[in-house]
Amino acid sequence: MLPLDLARLSREGSLRLEGRIPSDAALWEDTGIRLSEPLWVDLRVTEAQSGEIVARGEMVCSLASECRCCLDPMTVTLREEVTLIFAPQDTLDGTGDGEIRVLPSDTREVDLAESIREEVILAAPTYVLCRPNCRGLCVRCGADLNETTCECAVEEPDPRWDVLRALKSE
Ligand SMILES: [Zn+2]
Ligand SMILES: [Zn+2]
Repeated sequence: MLPLDLARLSREGSLRLEGRIPSDAALWEDTGIRLSEPLWVDLRVTEAQSGEIVARGEMVCSLASECRCCLDPMTVTLREEVTLIFAPQDTLDGTGDGEIRVLPSDTREVDLAESIREEVILAAPTYVLCRPNCRGLCVRCGADLNETTCECAVEEPDPRWDVLRALKSE
């Protein structure tokens, strides 16, 4: 939970909201996101004359992931600038655009953790490699080709290279 007290924000005009979201918090369930440590977030929240609320700052988290190529477990650190914009329903003409999160008119408290979760899902890389030239696993025997070689690694020459070679020598 990262509760933002809207009455207090109105009184003070701006607030700093710093907090952590535990890695085992219920809000990560069914997201595919696994944190290896708590997410940290530090936001400056301001309320504009128009009633629009802008939270801007930074979040840092470590995702437990695995190399897409060799399946080795690895940690991906995300350090992201965050900008969250909220607007009370009654200040919006129409539905607002996709960037703006709409608040029902009687909202007193917003849980920013929900929005942060969405930001993490958007920022999480879907394709990570343990090293730029990871050799992956042998498709036949499953050997980790970063660690070892296997008998099946003897490849037949790829005929496509012949075409390239022929082009080069012209
Ligand atoms: Zn790898
Ligand atoms: Zn093999």
